[in-house]
Amino acid sequence: MIYVHVPFCRNFCTYCDFYSEVAARCRKAEDILKQEKLFEEFSQALCAEAVSRAGEISDEVNTLYIGGGTPSVLPLSAFRALAGTLKALRLGASGSDLADASCPTSGRREFEEFTVEVNPEDIIEKGHEYVEGLLELGVNRISMGVQSFDDKILRFMNRRHSSEDAVKAYGILEEAGVRNISIDLIFGLPQLSLDQWKNTLDKALNISSRGTLPQHVSSYQLSVEPGSMLARFAEKGVWSEASDEVCQEQYSALCEALASAGYHHYEISNFALPGYEAVHNSAYWRHVPYVGLGPGAHGFSPLDASRQWNADDLQAYLDAYRNGDFSAIREGETLTREQLVLEHIMLGLRTSAGLPADYLRAHCEPAAFDRALDSGDLQAVPGSERLRIPESRFFVSDSIISSLV
Ligand code: SF4
Repeated sequence: MIYVHVPFCRNFCTYCDFYSEVAARCRKAEDILKQEKLFEEFSQALCAEAVSRAGEISDEVNTLYIGGGTPSVLPLSAFRALAGTLKALRLGASGSDLADASCPTSGRREFEEFTVEVNPEDIIEKGHEYVEGLLELGVNRISMGVQSFDDKILRFMNRRHSSEDAVKAYGILEEAGVRNISIDLIFGLPQLSLDQWKNTLDKALNISSRGTLPQHVSSYQLSVEPGSMLARFAEKGVWSEASDEVCQEQYSALCEALASAGYHHYEISNFALPGYEAVHNSAYWRHVPYVGLGPGAHGFSPLDASRQWNADDLQAYLDAYRNGDFSAIREGETLTREQLVLEHIMLGLRTSAGLPADYLRAHCEPAAFDRALDSGDLQAVPGSERLRIPESRFFVSDSIISSLV
């Protein structure tokens, strides 16, 4: 299971605190050339980091997720190089076999799930050929940042696309042959009325010109992340968060609309048509080990309870590549047994599959556990020995979990 972080965005969205560098669209030939060189060197650095960490790349969960940032700013050649290197490493190639930077892809084993995050404006600009190129590399899932179908809200978020662009980009993905598309939506803005939100949900469910539903929807409540533009707006007093009541009302509308459309609400923020639950993200929630590549990427190994990450610093990452030593930008920590258990409970109770009842009984505060069972904060998962938070209480899951541990 591999996560790759691509730290480039055309501009910054108001709510975002992910590590990324601005890679603005260039007009002058010299700037275009400079950016192409930067992307090429970044792609070579990713391949080199993957080779340097070959021993960590296992097949326990066979997924590759390229996120960011905005991976779709990269040219197809960058994906070709990375996909080829990773597939070859999984087949047991050594670093020297891969010294040839062309990183051939023929005969390589495919990933069970290979997701690339894209933004609508890149798909419109690069068109069918780009998407078909991704599919040829084995990409079988696209996650597109739509966020809203209200243009005023999109402008507030500093997104570069319009609601019309989202529909157009979705059409390109479908026409090019992508059969597993996830879209992201954001709720919980004070200026988003319930009617506007319901309208966004309706448009999301009707985004396909082929009359099919998006296979997957992720929907997050807006939060004010330290360091984001929103945090600065809030500090200056020019913007404030929506109330809990508003957010809960919008979350309920989300759950109702997607349930009526036939989605499985399998994690607090994630909904899938049957059979389209994200394999990669589901593995995170089960605490499966993963490797993170790229600046700012995190990895996790439950075997020695360690979490590792690369520094949020593109230049340092490229310097590490030039020096042939990525250890200079790698950081890490070892979790205590208590921290591991806590994380396991927090992640597991975010899902509709929940956790084994015995595990919860053994690790939760006994009186709080009994109270949660009596009050219905925890319920049995039908046909299993597991317990979960019922969907009707997902919105208050944080307080339920903190009462348990
Ligand atoms: S939300 Fe996505 S596109 Fe916007 S700044 Fe964050 S990573 Fe970049």
